[in-house]
Amino acid sequence: MGWSFNIGKIGGTVLRVHVTFFLLLVWIWFMHYQIGGTAAAWEGVAFIVAVFACVVLHEFGHALAARHYGIKTPDITLLPIGGLARLERMPEEPRQELVIAIAGPMVNVVIAALIIFALGGTAGIEQMLQVEDPRADFLVRLAGVNIFLVLFNLIPAFPMDGGRVLRALLATRLSWAKATQIAANIGQGLAFLFGFLGLLYN
Ligand code: ZN
Repeated sequence: MGWSFNIGKIGGTVLRVHVTFFLLLVWIWFMHYQIGGTAAAWEGVAFIVAVFACVVLHEFGHALAARHYGIKTPDITLLPIGGLARLERMPEEPRQELVIAIAGPMVNVVIAALIIFALGGTAGIEQMLQVEDPRADFLVRLAGVNIFLVLFNLIPAFPMDGGRVLRALLATRLSWAKATQIAANIGQGLAFLFGFLGLLYN
């Protein structure tokens, strides 16, 4: 992808950051600066960097699972909308696609569990929902974001991980083409449903 900078190479995978991600950081800095000054500005940037570190780990979860099946991941690109792991090829086996698709969200489950464990299990659901409250604890918010990432990515719609999980599960009983078609239809149905709900609650 054009306008991306290489920032390092881990286990044969080049980590790239798209220029728009830096623009996002600048925007976050100014947005927080207006509300709470310099300290709030840097805290806002630190939080976004921590969130995207979790996104990168999610993508490396996919890459590691793919490598287990002999599939290389030449690069992972970080965009303001999330991470993008470019696999050399897609697996042919439904079981392999299932494992590769689920490996990403599992990384976020582990991160959230580790944070909650580190906080002594005191992080309540209510605190986690206050992701936009700058006074809420940094780690509690980070755990909340990781739980959100799991739920968001497991929405069974392409190109979300959940869409691939659904197709892989269907493909254990149906043909690959039929499984793809049903998973795509469910994805479109969900997109329509969310769009409709969005109209109702706006
Ligand atoms: Zn993923």
